[in-house]
Amino acid sequence: MTDTTAGGDVRLAGLGKTYGSFTAVHPLDLTIPQGSFFALLGASGCGKTTTLRMIAGLEEPSTGTVSLGGRDVTDLPPHKRPVNTVFQSYALFPHLSIHENVAFGLRRRGVKSVKKQVAEMLDLVQLGDFAQRKPHQLSGGQQQRVAVARALINHPQVLLLDEPLGALDLKLRRQMQLELKRIQTEVGITFVHVTHDQEEAMTMADTVAVMNGGRVEQLGAPQELYENPRTTFVANFLGTSNLIEAEVVGTAGEEITVSAGGGTLRLPKSRCPDGARTGGRLLVGIRPEKISLVPADAAESVAAGRNTVTGRISDSSFIGVSTQYVVESPAGKGLEVYAQNVERQAGLVPGAEVVLHWNPEHTFGLDADQDISAGVESVEETP
Ligand code: ATP
Repeated sequence: MTDTTAGGDVRLAGLGKTYGSFTAVHPLDLTIPQGSFFALLGASGCGKTTTLRMIAGLEEPSTGTVSLGGRDVTDLPPHKRPVNTVFQSYALFPHLSIHENVAFGLRRRGVKSVKKQVAEMLDLVQLGDFAQRKPHQLSGGQQQRVAVARALINHPQVLLLDEPLGALDLKLRRQMQLELKRIQTEVGITFVHVTHDQEEAMTMADTVAVMNGGRVEQLGAPQELYENPRTTFVANFLGTSNLIEAEVVGTAGEEITVSAGGGTLRLPKSRCPDGARTGGRLLVGIRPEKISLVPADAAESVAAGRNTVTGRISDSSFIGVSTQYVVESPAGKGLEVYAQNVERQAGLVPGAEVVLHWNPEHTFGLDADQDISAGVESVEETP
């Protein structure tokens, strides 16, 4: 296969878009390294599609520039840019065979012998045996793979994917996520993937940019974003976080001590905003799966040095691999705890008094001047 990996860096400099007085994308500076799988993640209306369309040349920016591999392409029309886009609707030609659908880009450029390249592409997306079928004879996932092959045969520097799995059911979606990741690793082309599905972004991307209100709130590797969210929006939008309102009462060594709901909690200084070190209010965050739960009468079994919070179970749901508890506590309403179903613990039923405990190292701190519920419930759409 031709080397398609050269010079695929995408650089956005002050790239913004306004519609009248409405700002869809605030001026954005962003470099997407060549060969990376990059996800733009956010709720509906946050500006991710507009950003993608400006990279594709389908939308004219109000400010700023787009460069690809060091070349400013801001003024180039879409077909002159070394990018291809795969949309949610596969838009295959229904009357053409799969082979001809994939060959389309080559034929349009006047390439005569397409057979070998088409076969290579169909092998890449594992559809070698389907070349003579028509699109309607394929499943949704297969059609989407044809759409990917049809785009990749043009050897773009960058492949843009706009919610490409949005129309697929959940199981197929999961399969296709792994499939797309494999294809990206194999071809080494930069993929920029737009999605509102945080699990999808985390599964596939090397780097995720979390967008909110036309801005990138935080950018990083999935694990980094998940473990160290810097805003309440990111903490709540990416998975679930328990956020507890607290007051800084002291610092010792590398730790900060806070008071919350009548008790004290400790957390690493390195996981707090700088201002928190000198006192004042702080939001203390802990992920539900990091918390363990014991009945209150077994509180003495909790090892010394753990953060502890008392409460009462208000709800529990068994979901197979884990049981999810909701706990009402003086430290916070509706705290969530996910317990893996290894051994069932007696006494953890709604109404039970419990102690929640966790390793202080797993606690993060956020600036308290933020909306504590930003990003909650914002994944309301299911296509
Ligand atoms: P979705 O997942 O629903 O596509 P998105 O994050 O991709 O959402 P965009 O499509 O980028 O969002 O839209 C960002 C904002 O810009 C939205 O509030 C949208 O209503 C607005 N917008 C988009 N296109 C136009 C337009 N042509 N005229 C006016 N406003 C627009």
